Amino acid sequence: MTVIAIDGTFASGKGTLGKGLAAHYGFPYLDTGKLYRATAKRVLDAGGDVTSSVDGTLAAKAITADDLSDPILKSGPIGAAASKVSVHPDVRTALFDFQREFAANPKTSGGILDGRDIGTVICPDADVKLYVTASPEERAKRRHAELTGYGEVLTVEDVLAQLIERDTRDSTRATAPLKPAVDAHMIDTTGLGIAEVLAVAISICDAVLTR
Ligand code: C5P
Repeated sequence: MTVIAIDGTFASGKGTLGKGLAAHYGFPYLDTGKLYRATAKRVLDAGGDVTSSVDGTLAAKAITADDLSDPILKSGPIGAAASKVSVHPDVRTALFDFQREFAANPKTSGGILDGRDIGTVICPDADVKLYVTASPEERAKRRHAELTGYGEVLTVEDVLAQLIERDTRDSTRATAPLKPAVDAHMIDTTGLGIAEVLAVAISICDAVLTR
């Protein structure tokens, strides 16, 4: 079983890269951010509070694969709520097994997961670890294009402010903060197109996997 772990900052292109690598290698792909987004949505739908560990943990324990396909999960407000619900250690524990089982599925020869703590906490023994980032300005422009494409009304400056807030919360939380694993390969996607990022990542993965 080959596991490729992708971590990185908000709107760094890690999801696009994960899907591209999944298509290239023929492995299933899990966007673990959707687990936290789906948890936040469950809390909000129940009239709960994402800053409450009790509300978040109850919701996280109920998450199944069926929760992950709702298109509303992609929205900016759900992403912001996900970042708040993900700080609770009990929420992270409740979502741990889902991710581990995906990474150790005996029916597949490999798996690709992207998130914030994949190489550090979820799959510390992953075969390849990638850490993806890009300049804040470029990431804000990319996410702005994506969110306005869904019909959200906001400026690039609004997205830049959200991005700084989100990255700061994700990287300073006590449990499983966003940070590169010591053995992660760093990919800066600033100024690179999707195909170029994918080519860089494939060359890293091929070099590591054929070693
Ligand atoms: O990647 P995405 O924007 O969908 O993630 C939403 C939020 O979920 C992140 O800002 C982060 O707080 C949380 N998350 C996390 N650990 C992961 C994936 C996402 O804490 N592995």
